[in-house]
Amino acid sequence: MPSKETFEEHLRRQGVSRRSFLKFCALTASGLALPTGAAKVIADTLATVPRPTVIWLSSQECTGCSETVLRSFEPSVESLILSEISLDYHNTLMAPSGTAAEDARRQAIAAGGHVLVVDGSVTRRDDGAWSIIGGEATIDIVRESAMDAALIIAIGNCAAYGGLPNAAPNPSDAVGVDELIASGELATAAPLINVPGCPPIPEVITGVIVHFLAFGVPELDHLLRPTVYYGQTVHDSCTRLPYFDAQLFAESFDDEGARQGYCLLNLGCRGPLTFNACSTRRWNGGTSFPMHSGHGCLGCSEPGFWDRAGGFYTPPF
Ligand code: SF4
Ligand code: SF4
Repeated sequence: MPSKETFEEHLRRQGVSRRSFLKFCALTASGLALPTGAAKVIADTLATVPRPTVIWLSSQECTGCSETVLRSFEPSVESLILSEISLDYHNTLMAPSGTAAEDARRQAIAAGGHVLVVDGSVTRRDDGAWSIIGGEATIDIVRESAMDAALIIAIGNCAAYGGLPNAAPNPSDAVGVDELIASGELATAAPLINVPGCPPIPEVITGVIVHFLAFGVPELDHLLRPTVYYGQTVHDSCTRLPYFDAQLFAESFDDEGARQGYCLLNLGCRGPLTFNACSTRRWNGGTSFPMHSGHGCLGCSEPGFWDRAGGFYTPPF
């Protein structure tokens, strides 16, 4: 059910002022490291293009990725955009159920050109019988929904790389969307953007969608992650980096060094090997990030992080 309503019209109907809308465009442009003038392009685009149809499929997942984009301490432009764009079909959150829900999805994809968001890994064992929605294997629902999509976004480590279900011994033969395409098990001409994390940062998801609408697919790295958000390691902007450079390391989570802000490398921090925006965009509306709060990075935006040798609290090197 594609909507003719534009993003801006939708936001105005939700009570978001023009001023707040322009502020959101400016912040998104800045977060995307776009040049001066990009905020106006974003504002003009969102004011004129119809709101896209978005199909959000949750496969083998914990619902954490949906939680991260939909939970906010107060209503924000981001949360309004994200909660609304998921309304076309979201098998965890939508109001319809049963055949009405599946009819809604089929109607939404009938015209093609939609944005397909996948969170969770896709199981292949026994023709996908390990993950069934409405009597249909999730792998078949993904195939059907991806065929005429304009864009596929794999949200979270599971959809990008297989995540926890893919961890050894991977009983359900779970993989991410990229591997399904690479193996020829998923046919689509749509570009794929990976937005990994466990979960990803909500503003990163918003930024990727806005970039696609205003400018097309952003530059991606070798793992199909937008370089604007995944081009640096979380170590590069960590508040504990001066202590790393000075070789001052905490040896337990409650020692004096940890309290002073010493580096958490010896407690298992994988920040130097992990590409994500946690220490630049930060979490909870820009409040903090794990190392700032006293815990090392687990490497959740990288492939295979659940299978890390030695566990999460062994120094990575
Ligand atoms: S705590 Fe982790 S991310 Fe921060 S400086 Fe140390 S190794 Fe790097
Ligand atoms: S700090 Fe590391 S483990 Fe934590 S959310 Fe960021 S990338 Fe994931």
